Amino acid sequence: MAAKKIAILGGGESGVGAALLARAKGFDVFLSDRGSLKEAYRTTLQNASIPFEEGQHSEERILDAAEVVKSPGIPATVPLVQKLKAQGTPVISEIEFAARYTKAKLIGITGSNGKTTTTLLTYHLLKTAGFNVGLAGNVGDSFAAQVIDDSFDYFVLELSSFQLDDMYDTHLDVMVMLNITPDHLDRYGYDFQNYTDSKFRIIQNARPEDTFIYFQESQPILNELAKRNPLIQRLPISLETTPSPGGYFQNGEIVATYGSDAYRVALTDTTLRGPHNAINTLAAVLTAKSLDISNDVITKGLKTFQNAPHRLEPAGTKNGVVFINDSKATNVDSVFYALSSMDVPTIWIAGGQDKGNEYSELDQLVHQKVKALICLGIDNHKLVSYFGDKVAAIYETQSITDAVAKGLEWGQPGDAVLLSPACASFDLFKNYEDRGNQFKAAVNHLIESDN
Ligand code: ADP
Repeated sequence: MAAKKIAILGGGESGVGAALLARAKGFDVFLSDRGSLKEAYRTTLQNASIPFEEGQHSEERILDAAEVVKSPGIPATVPLVQKLKAQGTPVISEIEFAARYTKAKLIGITGSNGKTTTTLLTYHLLKTAGFNVGLAGNVGDSFAAQVIDDSFDYFVLELSSFQLDDMYDTHLDVMVMLNITPDHLDRYGYDFQNYTDSKFRIIQNARPEDTFIYFQESQPILNELAKRNPLIQRLPISLETTPSPGGYFQNGEIVATYGSDAYRVALTDTTLRGPHNAINTLAAVLTAKSLDISNDVITKGLKTFQNAPHRLEPAGTKNGVVFINDSKATNVDSVFYALSSMDVPTIWIAGGQDKGNEYSELDQLVHQKVKALICLGIDNHKLVSYFGDKVAAIYETQSITDAVAKGLEWGQPGDAVLLSPACASFDLFKNYEDRGNQFKAAVNHLIESDN
């Protein structure tokens, strides 16, 4: 019998991984990318003798496949995907494809913000407990490539709405939903409900014994839960009440209750800061507790966790002034949490490409915490006109080295200089990573210089 034909659309990390898994499972696989592949991926495909094309999609060949694995970056509205769906060809995500081939238990984490932090922390707690854990989804290596040798106890999967859109039968044992705020609406017909529905696909195959951990001050989450009333163990997280079972943050302490056991730790005894990270930490801790990981192991994990760079990342200290790199904060909401996390007078570096920002939600925090604002962007007029009469001093520059130097000049011992831009980086930098790296390099340079 001829092998089943599988076409892979998109040759990034997930597509190439899916192609390798399909080949390992004996399928007749073909990968197609309309752009160009990274050299390393090209070599991987060549070494595995997997046929592929770049710069085009050969429609006839793709329409002939029995199943198509689509990269999350390709919208469902592109004509080829529409044609596949019209003729009834299943179009699935790499997560859906890979999940068929693992016996590991799956933990899925979604939300508009906080996914990567929570995923990495959960992964770290499970590793600290000695489990054989894989990290995949929107972060780390391809899930599909990792299940070729199916040796894992658990996978922690960061799931974006785009991945969830192409998931149908995957069963997750633990599901985490951190928040739902408007994002990516261009892919959802500018309809927030469509985006919410996409996020809620995470519980579409939940069983009564599975665990759903969610932030209960997110109104869209509460509305959907009331509407759907899914049969599942619920573990709410709150910053305002004290759910039990569930988790809360009060007087600087996080408290997680599962079964008869409560776990407590001061957030200052962990490596993360700020109320948003209390939510993320509670989600990871409740996941760990639902897997019977001991309190001692959780404490050890929380003390040794290192978050991904560019998220409230300490970048160095000079003359008693602490520099913090929060370059990933590319919208006002993220800056809200960054400023909420600051407990010392702050010189705030912001600016870049405006995304239609509305700054009023920052008024109170800026009033309480910001002693000066440094605007780092090609066009700073919006920041200057909004904050001009709200902060004691404003400085404008297009040079990150200059911004860092100004921060040091204005800083007193005990102050912080916080890069938390609220804007995209593309006016002066390649991306947010480039902006964060240049910030850290400038701080380092300053620390190593004599004065
Ligand atoms: P994601 O992977 O969902 O983009 P990250 O963990 O990379 O999330 O965090 C991105 C930014 O979002 C952080 O710099 C922080 O400012 C903000 N953030 C993190 N966690 C939360 C949360 N639970 N609620 C709201 N904002 C958050």
